Amino acid sequence: MHQLTLAEIARGLADKKFSSEELTKALLARITQLDPQLNSFISLTEDLALQQAKAADARRANGESGALLGAPIAHKDLFCTRGIRTSCGSKMLDNFKAPYDATVVAKLAAAGAVTLGKTNMDEFAMGSANESSYYGPVKNPWNLEHVPGGSSGGSAAAVAARLLPAATGTDTGGSIRQPAALTNLTGLKPTYGRVSRWGMIAYASSLDQGGPLARTAEDCAILLQGMAGFDPQDSTSIDEPVPDYSAGLNGSLQGLRIGVPKEYFSAGLDPRIADLVMASVEELKKLGAVVREISLPNMQHAIPAYYVIAPAEASSNLSRFDGVRFGYRCEDPKNLEDLYKRSRGEGFGPEVQRRIMVGAYALSAGYYDAYYLKAQKIRRLIKNDFMAAFNEVDIILGPTTPNPAWKLGAKNSDPVAAYLEDVYTITANLAGLPGLSMPAGFVDGLPVGVQLLAPYFQEGRLLNVAHQYQQNTDWHTRTPTGF
Ligand code: GLN
Repeated sequence: MHQLTLAEIARGLADKKFSSEELTKALLARITQLDPQLNSFISLTEDLALQQAKAADARRANGESGALLGAPIAHKDLFCTRGIRTSCGSKMLDNFKAPYDATVVAKLAAAGAVTLGKTNMDEFAMGSANESSYYGPVKNPWNLEHVPGGSSGGSAAAVAARLLPAATGTDTGGSIRQPAALTNLTGLKPTYGRVSRWGMIAYASSLDQGGPLARTAEDCAILLQGMAGFDPQDSTSIDEPVPDYSAGLNGSLQGLRIGVPKEYFSAGLDPRIADLVMASVEELKKLGAVVREISLPNMQHAIPAYYVIAPAEASSNLSRFDGVRFGYRCEDPKNLEDLYKRSRGEGFGPEVQRRIMVGAYALSAGYYDAYYLKAQKIRRLIKNDFMAAFNEVDIILGPTTPNPAWKLGAKNSDPVAAYLEDVYTITANLAGLPGLSMPAGFVDGLPVGVQLLAPYFQEGRLLNVAHQYQQNTDWHTRTPTGF
């Protein structure tokens, strides 16, 4: 049963081949048996899951239907879940039980999805390897000595290992697409404003966006349908109609204009990944696409700009965790200053502290113009590059990551080496554009992803292209040995 996709589960439930309760019990048992190898879950929510599964079965018995009704999922542990620990991967929130559900959680629950648990993640979503979690690193099911990518590494490892069919993630600089690429999944970062951020613990508010991680584009369409939509409680949510993503999957790719940026192939890209990217282009050409080279001239400035803007916003967002209003409080503080210093010093891990220091520095008087303002100007140039490119092409295609999954610990001594892994993903966050990563082959037994980018609110186009590609390739069906 664990091999079923969301689409297959929906059919199985509709045909009464199994109940949501049976499926939920089977997957919970599988998680208990296999997750100790991976560490992909921070919390299991068995009681809630069984209660939701029974309720979904009852709704189906009453004649209700729906692609998510009775479907098992999990949430990255930064989506607030009422009465359940929401840790954000941090000691700071180790004992935080959210008093309300995030909009995404509430919407998916209303659609009948069953929450199996909360998945492991980099602390406060800062990272590309899922090694900065207070709850320990997550392992990649394709090779347990390698990282699964981050920061939604728990969601990715769990879905890749067939512990469940799909999970939510968030993407501030690549944290849905990059772990999807490194674990052979399909992952979609929607347009900024497409999915509500209400109840999603903030890292960098102008970049964060929730989205689906699943094995297929078809399943991403189902999960995104349940997550997307206007939310008056999120002031950056955009009131744009949500199309029927599943209905759009079968559009023809005849005449689709694909742009491949020449800057993507410069130094730093593993040549074997470059070959797989070009092979995916050939596959799409067979389906009728036309390909041309394009240029994104300001791409080289993206990493420095992102690693000023994201820490700046983080330093502001994380100021609320002071041991008074929110979060961990140190033992026996001597005075108020000692309380602040030790609560934050003991509650936050080293990567989070590094980002807070960088961000506070970039925002400080005297440095604001030199760093923060300049980074915001670069952000505009990057957006302009994309706008010019999308005048000529419908989709931009390239690698999701420059390298396959690296060994646990390999980049720990050099944070900048890890930051460089985000080179292909962060531009979409800086511009607010939607992006998708899909499986496109293997290098040394490790998965490789291809990234597709589209204009604002064209998530449907990304899903359509990825689905057509997946109808003609079988990379996404490969299962890691042992799972
Ligand atoms: N790796 C990037 C960072 O560490 C992106 C993380 C994310 O998307 N949450 O900031």
